[in-house]
Amino acid sequence: MTATGAAARAQLLADAIAGKFPDEGGRYGPFGGRYVPETLIPAIERLEAGLREHLHAADFQRELADELRSWVGRPTALTHAPRLGARWGADVWLKREDLAHTGAHKINNAIGQALLAKRLGARRVVAETGAGQHGVASAAACARVGLPCTVYMGAVDMERQAPNVGRMRLLGAEVVAVTTGDRTLRAAVDEALRDWVTDPLGTYYLLGSAIGPHPYPYLVRELQTVIGREARAQLLERAGALPDALIACVGGGSNSIGLFHPFIADAAVEILGIEAGGRGPALGENSATLALGRPGVLQGTYSLLLQDEHGQIQETHSVSAGLDYPGVGPEHALLQAAGRVSYEAVSDTEALAAVQECCEAEGILPALESAHALAGARRWAQAHPGKRILIGLSGRGDKDMPTLQSTLIVQLEAGRP
Ligand SMILES: *Cc1c(COP(=O)(O)O)cnc(C)c1O
Repeated sequence: MTATGAAARAQLLADAIAGKFPDEGGRYGPFGGRYVPETLIPAIERLEAGLREHLHAADFQRELADELRSWVGRPTALTHAPRLGARWGADVWLKREDLAHTGAHKINNAIGQALLAKRLGARRVVAETGAGQHGVASAAACARVGLPCTVYMGAVDMERQAPNVGRMRLLGAEVVAVTTGDRTLRAAVDEALRDWVTDPLGTYYLLGSAIGPHPYPYLVRELQTVIGREARAQLLERAGALPDALIACVGGGSNSIGLFHPFIADAAVEILGIEAGGRGPALGENSATLALGRPGVLQGTYSLLLQDEHGQIQETHSVSAGLDYPGVGPEHALLQAAGRVSYEAVSDTEALAAVQECCEAEGILPALESAHALAGARRWAQAHPGKRILIGLSGRGDKDMPTLQSTLIVQLEAGRP
């Protein structure tokens, strides 16, 4: 690195620690911003003004805290994992978002934004979903606050994730099949945005990860930092110390930024984000955006992307549907550029092995997404013996049974005498 490069990097880090991001323009250093058509600007500005008025107001925070406690089931447990620790030669702690209502961290964001939609006087909510987990969380949160919910879902994903389509319908949502574009998550986001533009005052767009145009990456981060704030206090109380390493999986980046953010200023805590390495490093074989991507604009934000040399967004692959996205939130791009967080990829095979190990050692069936964090933690532990590791367990694995049946369970049955 050049001297100016090092100085710029140090400045980004100092600004990140000082809480300067996002700035006025919704930027995280060189990343972030708001790259949207003119037609969306009034709706987004209205959302931004609404956030300024309500998000940190005492009565909104009180209402949110009540719902998080009595409906979501927070605080979620911090579980000491001594048998995983013995295998890895580490002191291992799991932050249990799998125990949150609907089975993952996504509900923290969904209920927060649904309450906000009510405050802003919206008459209906639209959301997008890929694997269906955010659609289910949105449908549940909208039912809870009494707002009708329309979920856009790629036709390909509807076929792959049929049980979640049924869950959304039971929870009262209308699920709309998206047959344009790639017929997966990317096209579903575009359709939800298109719907929002047609009625920016009456409709609220409930975005599911720390991505998209400003202020969404900020809003989602603020709603997910409950994970890191709880985990930090719980670990300090139980272990009497901060972790040596903090590790979470990164798809769009919401559970990870929620866990990481309250630790950014703790220089002694090493922070590691784990992406989906899929079948390998070739373009199209993974979803490791930070580890392998290049800068560009996708869905309203300037961040890192998986694209070819002509700037075409690439098809991605991961055994875990929730990590299968070619972009990533701009704050992660900043934290990587500032040298505060490092990002590594874990393969499909390593993630599947981690599901099995966590089941056997701790009696917990983790989501395939979360298993990436476990596999990354195991690798880190082996390179750094005897350390304390805090892992974000973003969700439970019940939703992954069809994938697990055709992989791990088939192998288990074949190995039986
Ligand atoms: C959706 C999902 C993820 C990935 O999304 P992020 O926004 O990166 O957190 C990770 N884990 C689980 C269980 C999920 O459902």
